[in-house]
Amino acid sequence: MSSPEAGAPAAAAGGQPAEARDQFGRRIEYLRISVTDRCNFRCLYCMPAAGLPWLPKADILRYEEIVEVVRQLAPLGLRRLRITGGEPTIRPHLPELVRQLRAVPGVEDIALSTNGVTLPQLAAPLAGAGLSRVNISADSLRPDRVAAIARRDLGFDLVRAAEAAEAAGLAPVKVNVVVMRGINDDEVEAFAALTRDHPWHVRFIELMPVGELRELTWEHVVPTDEVLGRIASLGALAPDAGPAMGNGPARYYRLPGGAGTIGVITPMTHTYCGSCNRVRLTADGRLRTCLFGDHEVGLREPLRRGEPLAPFFHRALAEKPEAHALLQMRTGGLRALSEVGG
Ligand code: SAM
Ligand code: SF4
Repeated sequence: MSSPEAGAPAAAAGGQPAEARDQFGRRIEYLRISVTDRCNFRCLYCMPAAGLPWLPKADILRYEEIVEVVRQLAPLGLRRLRITGGEPTIRPHLPELVRQLRAVPGVEDIALSTNGVTLPQLAAPLAGAGLSRVNISADSLRPDRVAAIARRDLGFDLVRAAEAAEAAGLAPVKVNVVVMRGINDDEVEAFAALTRDHPWHVRFIELMPVGELRELTWEHVVPTDEVLGRIASLGALAPDAGPAMGNGPARYYRLPGGAGTIGVITPMTHTYCGSCNRVRLTADGRLRTCLFGDHEVGLREPLRRGEPLAPFFHRALAEKPEAHALLQMRTGGLRALSEVGG
């Protein structure tokens, strides 16, 4: 049931910024922007070794078009942005996009999700352009295993990438680890131990059976309770508030005396739909209201025709589903996260 104001921004009274709410009253303030569907990795859980049918270049929003979307939606209540993909850092001149997004009034926070390969070179220019912080995906601390999981050997090293981000001021650094039984689950303790000395937020993500994954099945999913049980061998875990900015759908803990925290993200065993605050912009300009659903509203054509985007945004929020159906979808059939800007 839609409320009468579903999707409409609350009036901006007394200089307060507007608020966007969906049909269930959830405040929507966070936009994840996919800048490309392509990637320099081929992670086992994300895309086939041969890649995917990539979007034609002409269908992908140009930087000025992405900025125009944000310029029109920020006054409606979107104030936090995350740049993602595919691998966003392979799109040329990414700092230029960050610089332009940072200049949009109302934008308070710009984060980046990356596989970290190019961070040693790009962290400083991205920070200089106004990026706030980064999430780095890292599924192993062993070079040979990184290359096996990513199916590419590009010399990724988590500690080097995270230290480059920190040195550039991109903090707090979050690290995302997808745990896969028999593939990297024996490294859970080593990842968790990094938080003793580094002020990083290491988050363990339950593997999701999305896309056309042939090599990973439900047998590879390691439930979060099992992950936390393993980490308990390092010391008692105390619940923690986690990072001040953007703690999203993770639950956090801290090892005794730990500089950083340990987070768990459990799409397979819990849902966070009740507190969902986000929508996604695909690389080809579709506004998707749920990661695991087909609901979307096309923005590219109205944008290219010069039409205002507010009515499309309001319609998307009025139609945003209450919850995703991932837990029921044990047979896959969902799209890869690289395609929808995971
Ligand atoms: N390329 C960037 C990266 O890897 O961080 C950004 C895009 S990637 C699709 C975003 C996040 O989705 C990564 O942290 C990745 O580990 C996660 N992801 C992708 N497919 C997944 C799956 N099947 N299950 C769980 N997490 C997944
Ligand atoms: Fe690329 Fe990120 Fe997908 Fe890995 S998870 S293949 S790095 S988009």
